[in-house]
Amino acid sequence: MTSYDVVVIGAGLGGLATAAILTKAGRKVLVIERSNSVGGAASSYKVGDLFVEGSLHETSDPHDPRDPKHDVLTRAGVLDTVTFVPAGALYEARGGPLDTPFVLPDNFEAASAALATRFPDQREPVAQLFAQMRAVIAGDTTDATLSLQDKLDDLFGDDEPIKCALAANLAYYHDDPATLAWTHFATAQGRYLASGGRYVQGGSQRLSSALARIVMRGGGEVALRRVVTSVDVEANTVTHSAKDGSDPKTLGYERLVSNAAPATLAALLGGGAGRTLMDSYADQSPSISLFALTLGLSKPPRAFGFTGYSTQLLPTWLKRLADFKAGTTLMKDEPGDRMPPLSIVDYAAIDSGVPAPPYVLSIFGPDHLSNWDESDMDAYRDKRGRWQDAIVAALDGVYPGVKDAIVASSFNSALSVRQYLNAPNGAVYGFAPSPGAPPPSPKTVLPRLYLSSAYAGGGGYTGVLQSAGLCADLILRQDH
Ligand SMILES: Cc1cc2nc3c(=O)[nH]c(=O)nc-3n(C[C@H](O)[C@H](O)[C@H](O)COP(=O)(O)OP(=O)(O)OC[C@H]3O[C@@H](n4cnc5c(N)ncnc54)[C@H](O)[C@@H]3O)c2cc1C
Repeated sequence: MTSYDVVVIGAGLGGLATAAILTKAGRKVLVIERSNSVGGAASSYKVGDLFVEGSLHETSDPHDPRDPKHDVLTRAGVLDTVTFVPAGALYEARGGPLDTPFVLPDNFEAASAALATRFPDQREPVAQLFAQMRAVIAGDTTDATLSLQDKLDDLFGDDEPIKCALAANLAYYHDDPATLAWTHFATAQGRYLASGGRYVQGGSQRLSSALARIVMRGGGEVALRRVVTSVDVEANTVTHSAKDGSDPKTLGYERLVSNAAPATLAALLGGGAGRTLMDSYADQSPSISLFALTLGLSKPPRAFGFTGYSTQLLPTWLKRLADFKAGTTLMKDEPGDRMPPLSIVDYAAIDSGVPAPPYVLSIFGPDHLSNWDESDMDAYRDKRGRWQDAIVAALDGVYPGVKDAIVASSFNSALSVRQYLNAPNGAVYGFAPSPGAPPPSPKTVLPRLYLSSAYAGGGGYTGVLQSAGLCADLILRQDH
């Protein structure tokens, strides 16, 4: 039986980065991925002529030495093989309680000035908020049990426009300000304001493929279209097969890293080990999912009034920060008067390297697996189509002409996330970042088993890569 120092289940960002670091440290590594290509959510691909970015709108700048990705991507050997292009202002927020659009710049100083101009009475609370965000990034956990809603209510009272202006990109983290840990928001939003947002030039696939190349050039293996079907923790073996279940192979491991979700790993373990693993996460719930609509336009989005790279379009019914929560379950029903909040990027607004025409507009918003019924896939596709039409009509109301310029489209829902990524509940950010939740960790309760994923570091590229570095460190330390 072939044996490896480290077997990694899944070639998402977390699995690949851990594999790259361990390969560079001389370990014999195998990554097993059920899809046709590496990257998981961090993938980009073509549907006909349309370039589809599977996930990335923006991440904080990994070239900033204070950013957790800096050290991880340096050790993985890809920091300078991939180009991270500046995304400009963090976003333009428009709609909701904002009577006119507000642009939030991508650094603390300019953001303070813009907020002071727009909300002059809130100058002092904004200064306090930003000072506290910086303190949280530096490690202050004083307010770890507070929610974002608690914090913003405390500082800004019932001034809903400024609260919505400050958290218009809520779907980057969660859907409900009352159950989003203030410290999670402060860290993640604070990093954007500390170093600015970046996009991987040419698409997130470039980053994932660069990591996979490091593994393969270092003598490691990446097996695609292979599904891990069981793990035996007594014998330290993994069995994987082709997608149709044929050609099963069993191999040995010294350490096993799961990039797949803990619930997926637990099912692979089965029996007592599976239950022990799941029991250790009993207090945690899954994060939100996202829907993602990609539109290919015959003209650049700026021709229709998009002013920058990132726009957070708040629906007219959303008047209070607390209203965000109601956006997640709208797709359970047929489209009506209410649209979800939309996070939109125009890849033609920056030097993104995204091919055009068609010019790509990527739109995502909060979604939940329970919104979609997979028992009748034709009915599912029809309803998804009606939601696409409704979102396009809403966009056309704000950006006249955009509807008639659409030449291609692709719509992924929470159900697509579950199907394509084998992600339980369609969760995209690992465990929900609730106030007081235990800090995520790559360590599991089972010996030789580790996590490297959104579940082990908090969702998004930064959290996932941070977990990948910690996971590699744990393994290297324990090998000593
Ligand atoms: C629409 C969308 C937009 C997003 N936008 C942003 C953004 O702008 N900025 C940001 O920072 N984050 C964003 N995110 C979140 C970010 O993409 C994810 O948190 C991150 O990529 C998750 O990486 P991961 O390595 O944990 O897991 P995944 O990417 O889910 O990878 C897990 C891998 O494991 C494989 N796998 C599962 N089970 C098995 C098995 N049994 N055998 C073999 N392989 C298996 C899967 O096929 C998959 O490839 C977005 C996500 C989505 C969906």
